[in-house]
Amino acid sequence: AAKSRGRGNFQFFSRDMNAATHERLLLESRLWQALEQREFELYLQPQIDLPSGAVIGAEALLRWHHPELGTVGPDRFIPIAEESGLILPLGEWVLQRAIGLLGHWQTVGLGHLRLAVNLSARQCQGHGLLAQLDGMLADAGVDPALLELEITESAAMQDPERSRALLQALRARGIRVAIDDFGTGYSSLSYLKLFELDRIKIDRGFVKDIESDPNDAAIVSATISLAHALGLEVIAEGVETMAQADFLRAHDCDEAQGYLFARPMPPGQFERDTCATLDGPLRGPMSGQASV
Ligand code: C2E
Ligand code: MG
Ligand code: MG
Ligand code: MG
Repeated sequence: AAKSRGRGNFQFFSRDMNAATHERLLLESRLWQALEQREFELYLQPQIDLPSGAVIGAEALLRWHHPELGTVGPDRFIPIAEESGLILPLGEWVLQRAIGLLGHWQTVGLGHLRLAVNLSARQCQGHGLLAQLDGMLADAGVDPALLELEITESAAMQDPERSRALLQALRARGIRVAIDDFGTGYSSLSYLKLFELDRIKIDRGFVKDIESDPNDAAIVSATISLAHALGLEVIAEGVETMAQADFLRAHDCDEAQGYLFARPMPPGQFERDTCATLDGPLRGPMSGQASV
């Protein structure tokens, strides 16, 4: 950013550095307290069945309501939480909250909706995950098939043999597994053979220029064909325009998620908006105020 402001702006540069360091310290110093102080919240972003336009579920996306910085997105604090080890209790809180929401939905007529939760690399490497999930699902009386866990290919490939065993154990319980940010991990396609999966999420980076860049269009349509040939579902993330949704629908992509349909929002708003659209499919933006 400093570079783009032109030559001779060393002062801007060092001021930016100080601001970044300051922010990091501000985040780091409060991170452990934040869990206790209930400053975290799960926002939900609807996932849309492309042929019908119906909401089939949501992805849970973590937000931190920081007392000084306002609402902070996960890209700013997940890396710090990973380094400090907080990611384990935080990840456990995320699962607890997500499964709690699934339990709540059973009681308010939204029992058909699935919820996708992001897993960090460290959660996959630890030993406690399966026992945690078994306990939480049983306590909440939630069908494991309503829960989907998203893992990035780079996280899965850190220890492929261990990931293979974990994903197999998850699916043996009926929990769904998705590969997130598909195509960005510089890993070989051979892991598609190694891992048992339910679906892949095409990364936003391929969707962005789908209309103007023939390479991206080719990659996306080939990815959809490949996934279907392997018996997997495909969801595209970061869908922002009607033209992108039309392209994806025309190429048989199963589901989509993105600002075109709705931004991530607090659970209460998701429940209201989704209830409101149950009578009719969601073809364009959802009603209600967009948030973060
Ligand atoms: P992700 O799992 O790939 O999530 C998709 C990100 O794209 C989200 O950013 C979402 O808000 C954003 N997004 C959705 N639709 C659009 C769109 O149409 N256009 C654009 N430009 N962006 C869109 P967010 O919420 O900031 O999350 C960033 C990343 O943080 C996630 O990427 C995920 O890797 C991680 N993350 C989020 N929640 C959790 C969590 O509970 N645990 C862990 N371990 N990681 C999480
Ligand atoms: Mg995700
Ligand atoms: Mg993603
Ligand atoms: Mg992504």
